[in-house]
Amino acid sequence: MPMTLACREADPSSNCPYVARADTMEELLTDTAKHAKEVHGYTDEQLNDPEMIKQLKSVIKQE
Ligand SMILES: [Zn+2]
Repeated sequence: MPMTLACREADPSSNCPYVARADTMEELLTDTAKHAKEVHGYTDEQLNDPEMIKQLKSVIKQE
């Protein structure tokens, strides 16, 4: 069952159309982190913050 994580739901101020899609939570978070770094300039430190991970997990949807 694929999971999705919409960038603009994780960060409503970005208004970014990117949606990560994966079969596991780990893959989904890896893909989202890669996108956040490449497109939005986030650092590993920001992305490894427990609050950030909690925020990302809270907007994950199961399809
Ligand atoms: Zn984005």
